[in-house]
This record gives sequence, structure tokens and C-alpha cells, in this order.
Amino acid sequence: FFLALEGGDGAGKSTQVEALADWIRAKGHEVVVTREPGATPVGKRLRSILLDVASAGLSNRAEALLYAADRAEHVDSVVRPALERGAIVISDRYIDSSVAYQGAGRDLAPTEIARISRWATSGLVPHLTVLLDVDPQTARERFTEAPDRLESEPAEFHERVRSGFLTLAAADPTRYLVVDAGQEPEAITTVVRHRLDRLLP
Ligand code: C5P
Repeated sequence: FFLALEGGDGAGKSTQVEALADWIRAKGHEVVVTREPGATPVGKRLRSILLDVASAGLSNRAEALLYAADRAEHVDSVVRPALERGAIVISDRYIDSSVAYQGAGRDLAPTEIARISRWATSGLVPHLTVLLDVDPQTARERFTEAPDRLESEPAEFHERVRSGFLTLAAADPTRYLVVDAGQEPEAITTVVRHRLDRLLP
């Protein structure tokens, strides 16, 4: 079973990933927690290029391809092997982040970004994608560290990213769960657990 968590910066994805992983492990499953970008040795190098403020002039297409390269390596070396041995994989970000950030955010055609991702992953789609939806202004107040390259983007950029995520989710309500990420973390975990209860093996 493959679960992806998506959402803008500061939506609280990592908190939810940990809480859900603990809950699923307690049910007796092997859980592999992973993330994009940066889950593999090459991915870590790509992540540092992508998030370094020094990469400010990186072209939009090059950025999209570096995310796709990170994802290809991630799927081949982490996600597929784990799924094949029956583990439950939880990924902090996946394809939708590219469609939202590089597509909607950077103004590249979302269909093209989705096509590149499909190729990079050989068509591996999560069984459920949870979108933690939060107003970018509220999310910004949650940043604890210095903002990275993306977090320094203007508010309009983060608004486009948010709409990009919501458009994806609206197109396929059976494969998406949209949760108001302005709620308390425990309330969010409960909503997601409720949906997972019906889906997990
Ligand atoms: O979620 P995490 O903090 O690991 O993401 C790192 C940064 O990369 C975030 O600022 C996020 O906005 C950005 N990102 C992106 N495009 C993606 C995935 C992440 O711009 N496809």
C-alpha cells in the first residue's frame, strides 16, 4: 500500500507522516517512511542543489527535470522494492508536488509535468494521496527555521501552488483525501486514520 502526503510548505506533513507511521506499525505492518526530494544518496545531492538559495537562477525546466530525476531514483531504489516485499510506504511529497510547484507555481504546463513524472515513475500512483490544505499565510507563521529557496517565494507563488494541489484533488475524490490543515494535528491524524481504516490490508 502506497500513501502520499502532499501540501504546501508548513502544512504539517512531517508531523502527520510520523503519527500515521506509528499507528500503522502498531497494527503490525512494516512501514517505510520516505520523502521527496532527497530520500536516496543521489537525491540528497539533488535536494541540496534544489533548495540552496544559491540556485536562485535555476531555469524552470531544469528544476522540473531535477525533481523528476530525484523521483525516478526514489521509486526505483526505495518505493518499489518496499512495496514488492509488502511494506506500507508513506511518502512525504510525490508527483503532485511537482505538478503544483513546477506546474502551477512556475507556470509550466501541469499536463507536461505530470507526463514527465509518469515516465520517471513508470506510472506508479499512490493508493491514497492526502492533501493537507492550508492557507499559505497561516503556514508561513509555522516556519521555525530560516526559509529555503522555495519558502522565500512570494505569497502569489504559494497561492498558485495551493490551487494546483486543490485542482488535482478535485479531479479524483476517490484517490484523494483533502484535510483542513489549520486544525490541531491530532484532529488531522484522526481524519486520515478513518479513511485508512477502510483501505489498509
Ligand atoms: O517538504 P520539504 O520541506 O522537504 O520540501 C522542500 C522544499 O522543496 C519545499 O520548500 C518545497 O516547497 C520544495 N519543493 C518544490 N517542488 C517539489 C517538491 C518540493 O518546490 N516538487
